Amino acid sequence: MPVKGLGEYDTNNIFARILRGEIPSKRVYEDDFAIAFHDIAPQAPIHVLVIPRGPYISIADFTAKASDAEIAGFFRAVGHVAKALELEAPGYRILSNMGEHSGQEVPHLHVHLFGGKPLGAMLVNR
Ligand code: 5GP
Repeated sequence: MPVKGLGEYDTNNIFARILRGEIPSKRVYEDDFAIAFHDIAPQAPIHVLVIPRGPYISIADFTAKASDAEIAGFFRAVGHVAKALELEAPGYRILSNMGEHSGQEVPHLHVHLFGGKPLGAMLVNR
């Protein structure tokens, strides 16, 4: 079910539980600011999620509350993962859902990183 409205951070959302190690994940990267792991239901040959360690729901929430170091660290992690997965040369797509209209299901900020084949049109249902 998509997130309805972006209210208080839910400390028991799936990604919070993955961060705490309560739910296993196939991690491909981690540092002080972010972790990256394979999506459980991949929609491309490579489908990795990058999430900040801090409790943020959306980009607006993150950029309003996080420190400069957390913000820089998170986006550096996205770039690092893209390079580490050798996606710079063939290309890839990042996507981040925010709120009900986007279909965001997990209310912890995350960037999807898709790659491994030509990805087609940016939006399917225009
Ligand atoms: P959203 O729709 O919120 O942008 O994306 C949430 C993503 O999290 C989906 O692509 C979904 O497959 C993935 N996901 C949901 N639960 C789990 C889980 O327990 N483990 C992993 N690795 N991914 C999950």
